Amino acid sequence: MLKLFNRFARSSPPHTRTLTSTIFEPTPEEKQVMLDQTTNFLNNFHVNNPSPIAGSGHAWIGSSAATDEQDVVLEKLSALDLRIHEDPIPLKSVLADVLDPAARLSMDDRHPGYLAFVPSGGLFHSALADYIASNLNRYVTINQAAPALAQIESECVSFLCSSIANYPPSTSGGVLTTGGSMANMLAIHLSRREALGNKDLPNATLYVSEQSHYCVAQAARFVGLIPKHIKVIPSDPKTLKMDTSYLRSVVQSDISSSLTPIAICATAGTTNTGAVDDIAACRAIADEFDTWLHVDAAYGGAFAITETGRNVLGDLSVADSLVVDPHKGLFLPYGLGALLVKDQKKLLRANHEDGACMQPTNFFDTHGEEPFVDTMNLSPELTRDFRGLKLWLPLRLIGVQPFRDALEEKLALAAKAAGQIEAAENTGHLKLLHPPQLSVFTFKYDNPSKRGAELDALQLELLNKIHVKGRCLLSLFRSINGADGELCLRMCVLSHRTDEAAVEAAVQDIIASARQMWNNE
Ligand SMILES: *Cc1c(COP(=O)(O)O)cnc(C)c1O
Repeated sequence: MLKLFNRFARSSPPHTRTLTSTIFEPTPEEKQVMLDQTTNFLNNFHVNNPSPIAGSGHAWIGSSAATDEQDVVLEKLSALDLRIHEDPIPLKSVLADVLDPAARLSMDDRHPGYLAFVPSGGLFHSALADYIASNLNRYVTINQAAPALAQIESECVSFLCSSIANYPPSTSGGVLTTGGSMANMLAIHLSRREALGNKDLPNATLYVSEQSHYCVAQAARFVGLIPKHIKVIPSDPKTLKMDTSYLRSVVQSDISSSLTPIAICATAGTTNTGAVDDIAACRAIADEFDTWLHVDAAYGGAFAITETGRNVLGDLSVADSLVVDPHKGLFLPYGLGALLVKDQKKLLRANHEDGACMQPTNFFDTHGEEPFVDTMNLSPELTRDFRGLKLWLPLRLIGVQPFRDALEEKLALAAKAAGQIEAAENTGHLKLLHPPQLSVFTFKYDNPSKRGAELDALQLELLNKIHVKGRCLLSLFRSINGADGELCLRMCVLSHRTDEAAVEAAVQDIIASARQMWNNE
């Protein structure tokens, strides 16, 4: 026995420490450091990061070529030791020496002046929820494993179904995903299963607009549609809404060529310009040809909780499936999207698998009526995070009304900024191209004597001039619609931190930069 033990001891690697699970538990010091660091991070937010471009800058937005700025970033990056080491390193030093400088080396999406890509303010309450959820580490995709926590997730889905989709509570449902792209993927899979069951896809077609997010067509390819059967419908040159009479004619002609439409995919708030398709017209076409209507409202959906937004979006409840991204319009940190469906039974039918290692469940919701569906049967995900908490906790702690007010404010701020830019058309040499339908709009520097590449270069120059002032971050959009494929600048107001002062500063910088360019020409 002793001999055996000795042999075992000799074979242990020299660095083995006491083999006990306590090594995986936080020390009291680590807990304190974590609290201090988080508090510090929040308190010093503006002091440490006076500009949204402080870290990784902006030049790449206008250029894929190497820039001086990128060289500086690369130099800072190479100074960081990001490797995994054999020996432990204390939390304090990992935070101070690695994570803090690493985080500084990035765009600051949480900054009030971040008006570039669809921003996500990153609510603290959600970060707290993530921390709690990961520490709890409960299995929420199977009801019986954590019934109350699983019901928190389904409460989130019910909340989104009623307050955004306006779906009937008795039939609707859905599933929380990591984001809009995954939710769209699940929706396209669902529409395919509804149209074809497990049959082959050689004749299946799907319709997107040229303004749709790329992930919808990508989802169709992923599901197995033949690329040429993913039909891209043009949009109105002014509003960028899908041309629904063109859509109708394409669907009709496809059906007469023995093709099978599986879904019409409309967008309620495109990422680039916030264009809202005519959802009612799309519904009518879907009904006429007996096909699925999917609506991608990843960006725009959250506005449905406001009165102004509801008027712009129209009745979303006519969609068979709807995607919303709480990590956009509800200000959550990245990592939460949702697929909502009018009839949850269909989603269940499209995803349910008889897993050999899983017990069949027969669990009823708190009303004791409908069997409570296990989330594992609503999507291909089995083991995953308790992600509903990051939506539920902020809504519980803050209440819904402040979200409604904040979103109304974003709509008003975008409208005001666009109005100011339009008013400066003559003096500022700016042109408002796509006025905001929701909280995003585009504009350009206008010089009637310039065209094509020369005019594009002026847009890049304007963007750069605005950015170096350091108060806001914008992005670019090239309208593929219209003969010249105009390049323009784009402002998206969506962070909960973006207030009147931040937008005012951005507008001042835009107008002043354009005037400066005009005077130099
Ligand atoms: C952002 C967006 C997506 C993609 O969602 P992710 O959460 O980034 O995966 C899809 N559609 C629209 C309209 C979007 O704005």
